[in-house]
Amino acid sequence: MARPGGDDVRFDLVFRGGRVYDGSGRPPVVADVAVTDDRVVRVGDVPDRGSVEVDAQGLCLAPGFIDVHSHDDFAALLEPALPFKVMQGVTTEIVGNCGMGVAPFEPALALARSFHPGCELAPWAGHRGYLERLDAEPPSANVAVLAGHGTLRSAVLGEDCRRAATDAELTQMMRLLDEALQAGVLGLSTGLIYEPGRDASEAELVELARQLGEGGLYTTHVRSEADALLDAVAEALALGERTGVSVQLSHHKASGRNNWGKVVDSLAMVDAARQRGADVWLDQYPYTASSTSLAAVLASGSLQGHGRMGELRPQDVVLATVEGQPEWEGAPLGELARSWQIGVEDAARRVLAADAHAWVVVHGMCEEDVRRVLQHPATMIGSDGLPTSLGRPHPRLYGTFPRILGHYARDVALLPLERAIHKMTALPAARFGLRGRGKIEPGAFADLVLFDAATILDQATFDAPRRPPAGVRDVYVNGRAVVRGGRHLGTRPGRALRRAA
Ligand SMILES: [Zn+2]
Repeated sequence: MARPGGDDVRFDLVFRGGRVYDGSGRPPVVADVAVTDDRVVRVGDVPDRGSVEVDAQGLCLAPGFIDVHSHDDFAALLEPALPFKVMQGVTTEIVGNCGMGVAPFEPALALARSFHPGCELAPWAGHRGYLERLDAEPPSANVAVLAGHGTLRSAVLGEDCRRAATDAELTQMMRLLDEALQAGVLGLSTGLIYEPGRDASEAELVELARQLGEGGLYTTHVRSEADALLDAVAEALALGERTGVSVQLSHHKASGRNNWGKVVDSLAMVDAARQRGADVWLDQYPYTASSTSLAAVLASGSLQGHGRMGELRPQDVVLATVEGQPEWEGAPLGELARSWQIGVEDAARRVLAADAHAWVVVHGMCEEDVRRVLQHPATMIGSDGLPTSLGRPHPRLYGTFPRILGHYARDVALLPLERAIHKMTALPAARFGLRGRGKIEPGAFADLVLFDAATILDQATFDAPRRPPAGVRDVYVNGRAVVRGGRHLGTRPGRALRRAA
């Protein structure tokens, strides 16, 4: 192999001869990529040498992946190496989803403890304080933040949240949202199936959305992903058109056997709104199972066969994490009920008596719908991973991005690799206002992933959900290696990302 022409060391890092996917969705080109400090400085032929030379021949070099739907708000501080994400090639996470935010601190701490039982966190003041904590204790990946409507609402209404907010309470929530926006959050998220978000009136949501300003970002876990999916999507689209905000439908799906196929209609509604000029987008994780708290499934009534989560069978609900009862983890609730010789709802109550925060995996979607949503041009990728160290979390936490690239793009040939990469790089960067991210071009931040297109694949399964993926070789964040040769180095060059003014 010929040596690069020049002898001068001019760059910190040069990748030689990889197939470069620039994030734009265009097919790859074979090129060298030079990095100085935290930026890409040249793409093409690079005659001069780097202090570090990386032979990328036969491999793909892409912008680092952006997880637009992360719940690593607290994991970023408690487990800052974020191995489950960076080993997938994720270099930026957007937290604060589904209405669950990082401030004010008190309700945020309660949330933190539902994800990380018993965790201790030194208090921070507001969203500004959280972002400054990340500045001081950086994780391995970059983190950007959405304000969580449910958390703002909890801070103002407290336990008495099963009702509409008063005008005075709404004013207080707006003040908290103002703090978040001043601090640099990207937008506002809602979780309209969860307490306390589900009791928000339309007027409350409209007032808060207006505060985001024209084109502001509103992400939503809609009011129903089951029987009332289409009404719930209509509500989100109407809010966008009424207030001028840009709407992101989170983890889009149709849940429950009786609702399979409904995403054909929901996507048609999205297309119609976009044709009217509305700014509407989606995200998705690539699995036919969802994951939530057992308490939410019980409350939905779907364990009786048909409820707010649609029609589920007892074997569709599998225990994922039950503190103190690991022998139940991995078992379908229907099987436990049979062995206990009680009804399935009573079995759920027995599990909740042992651990009120028990999580489940719900096999409630169909493959055709997952594929329809993934093929839609407005769909980005968000893991929705639940970063628990206990039990058997949904494998999306460890597998989402390699599964899109290896399973859906390569093996199923559902979409070209360059388009799959676009959905996890330049598209979300533009959409979420992450300036300088998501592309390989001179001036861009050097968030990069080097992977083997022939072998990349998720290895995490429902039975063994913590297996890191295959085929991801190196990951760089802000020009510094975090993963090399498939090994996490323990480096933490991530940054708190704030919305550009
Ligand atoms: Zn959600």
